[in-house]
Amino acid sequence: MTFTVAIDGPAAAGKGTISKAVAAKFGFAHLDTGLLYRAVGAKAADGVDPITAAQTLNNDDLNRDDLRSLAAGQAASKVAVIPEVRAALVDFQRRFASQDGGAVLDGRDIGTVICPDADVKLFVTASAEVRAHRRWLEVGGDEAQVLAEVRERDDRDMNRADAPLKPADDALLIDTSDLSIEDAIAAAVNAINAAR
Ligand code: C5P
Repeated sequence: MTFTVAIDGPAAAGKGTISKAVAAKFGFAHLDTGLLYRAVGAKAADGVDPITAAQTLNNDDLNRDDLRSLAAGQAASKVAVIPEVRAALVDFQRRFASQDGGAVLDGRDIGTVICPDADVKLFVTASAEVRAHRRWLEVGGDEAQVLAEVRERDDRDMNRADAPLKPADDALLIDTSDLSIEDAIAAAVNAINAAR
């Protein structure tokens, strides 16, 4: 049985939390596709050509311990504008999506480009201020600076020519600005149950 759940949205909207929870509940495999771009960005920061980095990405690259930082997020969104980088990562994501037993993929273009026929599409969002506050609680530092970086990354992700961040026409919008984690997960679970 294949069953694909596409979860897109901007940074720190709650995609990861919702994805992990629904994957555990339904027994689906989960791929955080942002990690692929973060790994390519980290290799690019090490001096590797980003297209080569994407074409040769391996498990060791994905297991680096420096991929979660704000800097790694910024580096990811810079290499994510390069069409050849995106193209190199498509097959891996589609293979993951079509595995037996069901899969949840979270990212920016899963419902629009990678899996336009996904069984369930969710677009998880929240205000930039709320997202920056959540990220600041994780990473610390200057909250105004974190907000500026969130806005910069949103702007780059939403305005790139290739696979910009936007909801698919048939995506269910979940705004987590004023939702508890439990309520956000419940909204996703209901949408999946309705489609099964
Ligand atoms: O989700 P995460 O914050 O880890 O993603 C890091 C960056 O990778 C995003 O800001 C975006 O530029 C890029 N990305 C993308 N497409 C995806 C997932 C992530 O362009 N499917």
